[in-house]
Amino acid sequence: VHTAAASAREEALAILKRLGVSDTAFASTGLAARSPVTGEIIAHIREAGAAETRAAVDRAEKAFAEWRRVPAPRRGEFVRLLGEELRAAKEDLGLLVTLEAGKIVSEGLGEVQEMIDICDFAVGLSRQLYGLTIATERPHHRMMETWHPLGPVGVITAFNFPVAVWSWNAALAFICGDPVIWKPSEKTPLAALAVTAITERAAKRFGGVPEGLFELIIGGREAGEALVADERVPLVSATGSTAMGRKVGPKLAERFARAILELGGNNAAVVAPSAVLDIALRAIAFAAMGTAGQRCTTLRRLIVHSSVYDKLVPRLAKVYGNVAIGDPRVKGTLVGPLIDKAAFDGMEKALAEAKSLGATVHGGGRVAGIGGEEAYYARPALVEMPGQSGPMLRETFAPILYVVKYDTFEEAIALHNSVGAGLSSSIFTLDMREAERFVSAEGSDCGIANVNIGPSGAEIGGAFGGEKETGGGREAGSDAWKAYMRRATNTINYGTALPLAQGVTFDV
Ligand code: NAD
Repeated sequence: VHTAAASAREEALAILKRLGVSDTAFASTGLAARSPVTGEIIAHIREAGAAETRAAVDRAEKAFAEWRRVPAPRRGEFVRLLGEELRAAKEDLGLLVTLEAGKIVSEGLGEVQEMIDICDFAVGLSRQLYGLTIATERPHHRMMETWHPLGPVGVITAFNFPVAVWSWNAALAFICGDPVIWKPSEKTPLAALAVTAITERAAKRFGGVPEGLFELIIGGREAGEALVADERVPLVSATGSTAMGRKVGPKLAERFARAILELGGNNAAVVAPSAVLDIALRAIAFAAMGTAGQRCTTLRRLIVHSSVYDKLVPRLAKVYGNVAIGDPRVKGTLVGPLIDKAAFDGMEKALAEAKSLGATVHGGGRVAGIGGEEAYYARPALVEMPGQSGPMLRETFAPILYVVKYDTFEEAIALHNSVGAGLSSSIFTLDMREAERFVSAEGSDCGIANVNIGPSGAEIGGAFGGEKETGGGREAGSDAWKAYMRRATNTINYGTALPLAQGVTFDV
């Protein structure tokens, strides 16, 4: 157990100053930004409501009229500068993420690295917004598709990736010609203020971008709802719980807006008879306990072949017993705090329910003596379940790993796919048939399916997102950019006649 090193408040305020966040952002009352590391309140921030949100959309709408005319590679230059500013700010911003979201230092830095990576990706993409040229059935005609900027993009983010998720959306939106209006989690407003100050520096170096190209609205549900309801916002990318997605999705559908929904996960790994257990063990430990179980891709269900169960699970229980829990700023800590009391209570409730179903629970419970009264550190729990039921079927945003046994591959896949969420998954096996079947159409039903690595810790090059109750959205790499643009099909007649398609005649 690593005890708290120093005041998180003072450290955070010093970082905010260095990153150029003006004191005027703070108020004597308003939204309280709290550090889960020590439980201290770092600052209060004025909250935006519906009126401020509409004003932000006004500005973004004006910015769109200008920004869409800037050539895409030039827009890429702005994102290149943003990447440079992020490189310069990496240490500070990473530590701020640690202080505000509670993840260990290397994960805080990793999150900023992910922002840098997506900027690099977007810069290259700014010269590759390709459309197809399509064969036409009519003589002296040409058919092609062109991709145009879409409009202001609303981005609603969760507390657990307080900076990276904005960048996955914003870097693509900017090069696609779209302004971004960001509504961060009410639990992590400071990281959002810092990112906005960094982006302002890039804008200055670029030689000025239109006012309103990047808007920040600090607020809670009311601000989010106003953004979702605004008809001038043709796309909303919303990351958070499935409960949030159930509210936001229908509202967007009602006004025919596009949605990128990145919602909860209940991710599993299958450990097959041929698995290399040393690799599986490390992958499982990182995926299940990293970020204190507060990643959307956190490993929550382990489906272990009965022939290796007794070799793997006792070793895993030992790792759970020895893992370093504590102040995430302290070197060597692997598991930091939960975000708040509600998260800890949710964990306790799920463990009690599992016990009532006959589970054997290793670990769990609050770890006292780190941070103040309002800091919630929990020992990660490994839960041997008699079968897949109760809390194992849903996402509890805490470090709980449920384990069940299987005998046949078909049974493992059936267990794997029979939950509501469909985000990430993995299998540990050296059997190529099992590996290929797992990633085939008959295998994992998730948006991410891995072999011999855990389900968490994705790279930005691939499209990120999941199926079913995870919402179906895709962000970051591959062709995810297409969601931020509108496609027009153009047919051009350069002949002297007017042949109609499908041989239709209409002679007037
Ligand atoms: P949350 O659902 O409580 O909040 C997410 C965001 O939605 C916040 O900004 C919140 O203010 C906003 N919001 C809530 N209700 C809203 C409404 N009716 N209209 C508009 N906005 C609204 O989630 P959280 O606790 O911050 O984050 C944890 C959850 O996020 C987990 O379920 C996790 O799996 C999920 N998550 C998913 C991904 C992914 O990419 N799939 C990534 C990170 C987190």
